[in-house]
Amino acid sequence: MKVLVTGSAGRVGSFVIRDLLAAGHRVRGFDLRPAGIEQDGFDEVVGAFDDEEAARRACSDMDAVLHLGAFMSWLPDDREKLFRANVEGTRVVLEAAVAEKVGRFVFASSGEVYPENKPEFQPITEANGTNPLSPYGLTKLLGEELVRFQGRVSSMETVILRFSHTQNASELLDATSFFSGPRFFLQPKIRQQEGFGNRAAVEVLRAADPGRPALILSRNENGRPFRMHITDTRDMAQGVLLALTHEKAPGGTFNLGSSDPVDFADVLPVMAQRTGLPLVTVDLPGPGVWYHTSNQHICDTLGFAPQWPIMRMLDEAVEAWKKMPA
Ligand code: NAD
Repeated sequence: MKVLVTGSAGRVGSFVIRDLLAAGHRVRGFDLRPAGIEQDGFDEVVGAFDDEEAARRACSDMDAVLHLGAFMSWLPDDREKLFRANVEGTRVVLEAAVAEKVGRFVFASSGEVYPENKPEFQPITEANGTNPLSPYGLTKLLGEELVRFQGRVSSMETVILRFSHTQNASELLDATSFFSGPRFFLQPKIRQQEGFGNRAAVEVLRAADPGRPALILSRNENGRPFRMHITDTRDMAQGVLLALTHEKAPGGTFNLGSSDPVDFADVLPVMAQRTGLPLVTVDLPGPGVWYHTSNQHICDTLGFAPQWPIMRMLDEAVEAWKKMPA
């Protein structure tokens, strides 16, 4: 197959490309940045999703498109860029794919369309209503609508995957990582909350600061530890490939992620024990993060079988942490 992977320089895109090339497919990347892949069977278009000419060039002669690229930001100043990349960009890539007679289009949506932080019921299934509360989640839902529209009016097959939170195992204990830094490390969390303007959170976080690098066990205002899905990128790549190839995927909307959510009260003490870093427990204002999203539909329909539970990821994370500069 000839497959276009958007977001080819990104976390999920680069793993998917690796797996596609290993399986003998021809792959083209499409991203603002070069993917840095020098391998037979790979070429790329460097450009923006909302650039019609670049999108046509990217889709030309492709059997399938995996639209995995997107802009992720929760900062108010990024609003325009967010809608341009994720909504207008998705419309332009979709229309280029239809014009170039692409057979199947797989779209990376997000659990933020529900949103997972405020679900109607748990575990969250695809039957949950979609009511995004962040502009990012809204751009993903609008992207889904654009995909569903082309699924109705064109002959292109479409598949929507609602992605879990996704990490490379090596990022988990990296204090500089965009996601894991503020999630698990105190100082990056203080900086993140300052950026969001959450003064009450900053106050309790600063009060807990031991003055040296520390891990943080986040709980809500009633002392309930955070709980959420953290899925290994390799498992996400497996799900994306199933969406690409499986005969039962077209027309489907699937939650894609790990089977079990991560309870921070289980994992943070292990992180602290294995790194020797101090662990502080902080009760943050508000209801906190606490969800469980079901992957039953994709397991039953496409045979998805995740291989990387959090403790297995953590083994790799600790090895990567040992090699990081102090
Ligand atoms: P990533 O940020 O690592 O990669 C995204 C890539 O898209 C980047 O290489 C970036 O350069 C590219 N990109 C952004 N805007 C672009 C534009 N306008 N034109 C061209 N390229 C552009 O993201 P990821 O973690 O690999 O996530 C993959 C997909 O999964 C995204 O669609 C994201 O919204 C979705 N998702 C991710 C998570 C997560 O936790 N990582 C969770 C839910 C959904």
